Amino acid sequence: MKPSAPITHDLLTIPRTLPSGPVNLIGMSRAVMLEKLLEIGTPEKQVKMRAAQLWQWIYQKGERNFSHMSNLSKNYRELLSEKFILDVPKVISKQCSKDGTRKYLLQLAGGHEVEAVYIPEEGRGTLCVSSQVGCTLTCSFCHTGTQKLVRNLTPGEIVGQVLIARDDLGEWKNLNGANNETRLLSNVVLMGMGEPLYNFENVRDALKIVMDPEGICLSRKRITLSTSGVVPEISRTADEIGCLLAVSFHGTTDEIRDKLVPINKKWNIETLIKALKGYPRLSNSERITFEYVMIKDVNDSELDAYRLVKLIAGIPAKINLIPFNEWPGSPYRRSEWPQIKKFADIIHRAGYASPVRTPRGEDIMAACGQLKSETERQQKSKKEITMEAGI
Ligand code: SAH
Ligand code: SF4
Repeated sequence: MKPSAPITHDLLTIPRTLPSGPVNLIGMSRAVMLEKLLEIGTPEKQVKMRAAQLWQWIYQKGERNFSHMSNLSKNYRELLSEKFILDVPKVISKQCSKDGTRKYLLQLAGGHEVEAVYIPEEGRGTLCVSSQVGCTLTCSFCHTGTQKLVRNLTPGEIVGQVLIARDDLGEWKNLNGANNETRLLSNVVLMGMGEPLYNFENVRDALKIVMDPEGICLSRKRITLSTSGVVPEISRTADEIGCLLAVSFHGTTDEIRDKLVPINKKWNIETLIKALKGYPRLSNSERITFEYVMIKDVNDSELDAYRLVKLIAGIPAKINLIPFNEWPGSPYRRSEWPQIKKFADIIHRAGYASPVRTPRGEDIMAACGQLKSETERQQKSKKEITMEAGI
């Protein structure tokens, strides 16, 4: 019998950076870029302007070929291409769902794969970004959690997903003058593969570029980071990133949550709620989203709904009900629609917004929790999954 995966890994064992190679300017903070440009001999009095020009080419025009950067001298362009690269993950395949959702399978340096998903909606378009290859956590309802291979994505690989989606949407040429409301890619959610708060620094550095007015330029309120409940990093998210927060809640007793979201054994419901109540940016305009996956006969009773309302009392919140998305071998079933409706009504009556998330891109396995690298799709046996879920 195989031992089940540990609840967490020592964060230090997961490298933050990749083995060295040519220096990639994509994902590099402005401060580091200034240093690197000075190192290659850029005159000190020009260096800020050069960095600003590079940022504009990379993040506002989508250019990844130094030789096309027409406002830089030919010699300087040659020097840049000798010393640096502009690298994003390689798109291995793209699938389009009948509902317009697009899923990209991306290959990273070293051959690992992740997925990113673009979801068009009325008046906005959201890119769901991955932060790790696989996930060290083993939530029993999540396909990503069955993937064994794990490494952190670099800031360049995280920002790179946004650049790739913009390439595919053909949005670069239409960006001039477009504001957040008219952009095709107007929102970013850290809800792809991985636990973003177990790759905190890289996620933070990438999101700083996404939010920077000279970078991708999305307002911090258009970025939502979803965590399974890594309590010690929650207040840092407000202080050092400032984006909106979503929490994968999914269970209203420790007994249920231990099984669904095993990180609960480390930081239980009480500890998590306490951390959320102390979330520095909490207000009615910046509510925390409680994600709640609806699993038939596991966490979808009316009693669960009442308990949920009681637990989150006093926290400015909205509750996002996610009908469980099945994947091959998954040990659970989606709650019946009338049950989801009953659950939603209880929450609604208690004064909370309780949108039910319409499953998107299910036909291409792009819905929440269905992501997994293609090379890893060979399944664990049903028995193995059921044993890990403790059911
Ligand atoms: N690791 C982070 C972010 C990625 S998961 C987290 O757990 O929050 C993004 C969301 O999809 C989470 O709320 C997660 O609980 C949910 N999810 C995972 N598997 C799912 C499934 N099979 N069906 C529906 N939602 C799922
Ligand atoms: Fe990891 Fe989130 Fe999936 Fe849990 S739900 S296994 S934390 S990606």
